[in-house]
Amino acid sequence: MTWSDRIRVLERGWLSSNNIVFLDEDGGVSVVDTGYVTHLDETIRLIDQAREGRPLRRIVNTHIHSDHAGGNAGLKALHGCEVWIPPGESELVDLWDEDRLSYRRTSQLCPRFSYDKLIHPDDVLRLGGEDWRVLPAAGHDHAMVMLWCERLGTLLSADALWQKGFGVIFPELAGMPGFAQQKATLDLIGQLQPRRVIPGHGAPFTDVAAALQAAHSRIDWLMEEPRRNSDNALKVLMAFKLLEARRLTLADLTAMVRTSIEGNAAMQVYYPHDPEAMAAFMAEQLVKAGAATREGDAVVAVA
Ligand SMILES: [Zn+2]
Repeated sequence: MTWSDRIRVLERGWLSSNNIVFLDEDGGVSVVDTGYVTHLDETIRLIDQAREGRPLRRIVNTHIHSDHAGGNAGLKALHGCEVWIPPGESELVDLWDEDRLSYRRTSQLCPRFSYDKLIHPDDVLRLGGEDWRVLPAAGHDHAMVMLWCERLGTLLSADALWQKGFGVIFPELAGMPGFAQQKATLDLIGQLQPRRVIPGHGAPFTDVAAALQAAHSRIDWLMEEPRRNSDNALKVLMAFKLLEARRLTLADLTAMVRTSIEGNAAMQVYYPHDPEAMAAFMAEQLVKAGAATREGDAVVAVA
């Protein structure tokens, strides 16, 4: 097995997805996913380092959540590069329909961008001098895709498989199926038998069987009691916002809980009353988890 020196994984954190930079054979550069908008300066700097003077020609998005597409607009304005996205939400992007895109109901930011090309499941993209097949990866997001390079045995798994777990199953929150799709995506990954996974968040890993096993147990656990997915989503959304804002008052948290409930049918079932009490509970959870400390009626992110 040879591992490509034309791929550079810029490992970020949880607010920003990883950026995977490909040195293409035409002398240009492609980047898969562009991070969250508040990290744009850092994203530009890291990509500049990785591209070593080559021109950035294209952005490829695995999906258009704010932490994967937040740098699209800024990078496109700076480099004049193309943006390629999966087809599932392209009409919403055309209209920039924030109510139906995920940004409003997650209380997250994503500057408006336009795209130049759609990548469909089964398309083969030439990235870093290798063929990468676009594979469907519904579950976390109905329109998400993964990229698979058979020759390198390498999978860009986006938020379908991390070393520990996977992304929130968002469709289920809106009353759409997602659990079965996530199981099918995990099965597909199992069939590919990747030797290396480059996830959307966290370091690349090679113990794929262990990660898959853990992910299978997790999806079964969520399916057993779907409320767990909602509880987890709320926790993840609050933790994400805390990373972005660093400090959130109880009023901020209450507004977020309210927005989440309004935008997600499942949450209306689970949390019908009292967003303020829910917000207070979430604040307590953030402190308990060691993510935040209390300051009066606010929680502040632990540095
Ligand atoms: Zn995502």
